[in-house]
Amino acid sequence: MSIVGNLLQIRSTLPTRVTLIAVSKTKPNELILEAYAAGQKDFGENYVQELVDKHEQLPKDIRWHFIGHLQSNKVKNIAPFVYLIHGVDSFKLLKEINKEAKKNNRIINCLLQLFIANEETKFGLSFEEADAILNSDELKQLTNVSIMGFMAMASNTDNESQIRSEFRSVKTFAAKYPQLSVLSYGMSSDRNIAIEEGSTMIRVGSSIFGERNYTK
Ligand SMILES: *Cc1c(COP(=O)(O)O)cnc(C)c1O
Repeated sequence: MSIVGNLLQIRSTLPTRVTLIAVSKTKPNELILEAYAAGQKDFGENYVQELVDKHEQLPKDIRWHFIGHLQSNKVKNIAPFVYLIHGVDSFKLLKEINKEAKKNNRIINCLLQLFIANEETKFGLSFEEADAILNSDELKQLTNVSIMGFMAMASNTDNESQIRSEFRSVKTFAAKYPQLSVLSYGMSSDRNIAIEEGSTMIRVGSSIFGERNYTK
């Protein structure tokens, strides 16, 4: 199917609470523009330089989501324009985002990334660490970041009940913070489980653009 066909098919299944983020990492501008022409405005990228280049070259009303692992020293490159940073996994990173947001006279929206997978390789905060950040006095001084909710990635497994319980653990944790209502979980393979388990943002790459030819 075409990119537009894929998009329309996925959108037709979404509850209204769910925002679809088209994950365009490694994909060329021409394909992004096809999705954009079909009304897609939210795009996700994992790599800072690729995101900076695409932001420069593509329409300015695109909402760019940074969904990768962000190093503190690269925050300054995306701070002028990024719409939502999904992968905040330390207080240090949050402080750096606040600093760069201030320089740009903006408030940057962030999600705290929670570690829920049964794997060593994924980044993220434990529930306890997230609690500590959210309840810290220091957070109140970060006037140029706005924490909107949580992001998570489930284990890379075929075991549906495991994926489901991992997503459910985020939903249960997040219920303690009703004002943090954005829940970013679900990718191409597990998006339907994610939606059933309360996701409000799914990040979908290969089901829209096809398989990626290379990974960086
Ligand atoms: C690449 C990526 C996605 C999209 O993955 P697909 O399986 O292609 O849908 C979603 N979230 C994150 C954090 C990613 O790195």
